[in-house]
Amino acid sequence: MSENSIRVRIPESNAAFLNGSGLVSPLEAQSLSPRSVPAGCNPLLDGLLAEAPVGWADELELVSLTPGETLFPAGASPTHIVFPMGGLISLLVRSGPAANAEVEVAMVGRHDLVGAAALLGAEPSAHRAVVQVGAPGYRASAASVRRLIETVPAIRSLLLRYVRMSLEEAYQLAACNSRHSLEKRLCRWLLQAHQRLESDTLPFTHDHIAQMLGVRRASVTVALHIIEGERLIRSTRGRVDLLDRTRLQMAACECCGAIAQNRRAFSFGPAAEGVERATPACATC
Ligand SMILES: [Zn+2]
Repeated sequence: MSENSIRVRIPESNAAFLNGSGLVSPLEAQSLSPRSVPAGCNPLLDGLLAEAPVGWADELELVSLTPGETLFPAGASPTHIVFPMGGLISLLVRSGPAANAEVEVAMVGRHDLVGAAALLGAEPSAHRAVVQVGAPGYRASAASVRRLIETVPAIRSLLLRYVRMSLEEAYQLAACNSRHSLEKRLCRWLLQAHQRLESDTLPFTHDHIAQMLGVRRASVTVALHIIEGERLIRSTRGRVDLLDRTRLQMAACECCGAIAQNRRAFSFGPAAEGVERATPACATC
């Protein structure tokens, strides 16, 4: 991860705790005490800090997650566990030698962590994690988090429940990709991106969406035109606006609801307040 990141835009809902302008510079990041980790920006991190020994927060480092940045490559074990405070990170698996042969197998947002494979051990991971939409985040070394898992049962339970939830989500997506039409998968993908970004404006090109779904760009363009014709979205250059989320949910496959239900079943975070924050912003997704 780049240590020399330039100033980054912070999601509006997360901006107040920094400097009020929505911007954080590397210098400001260095001066921000780990003790000032803002509650509510990442419920998993909240839950971990609620149970961690006094002083462990000093292990955390505020970082800028920059679009296009690879947080860890395929074939390596993640050196850090990253807790995003916004944005969107894709976990990609290569399905062939071509440059565009990577397919998205999971989307990560501020209710997640990056580097889950490293929670289980230091073996290499088969997927790559790449930042699609930038945001600030906190990170700690994977070794440090593994020590917490070994010594604090509540943290072991919290993080293993997250790993279990992620596995269930991956199983559902595997079924989705083999059974459901592109149009329905596209609706599901847009709703999942909305959930991660907590925005109805999604900054993605047709090319990008096609690569994430593992299909041809022309097929995505046709599918977008169909749902745009039904006034569910508006698709312009490099941007998709969700116009009618309720009807978009109806047009999506049932996997969208199943994934949301799975996330609710594995609610994480400290006490009821954290559980509430872990609930996705969208009623169905
Ligand atoms: Zn599906």
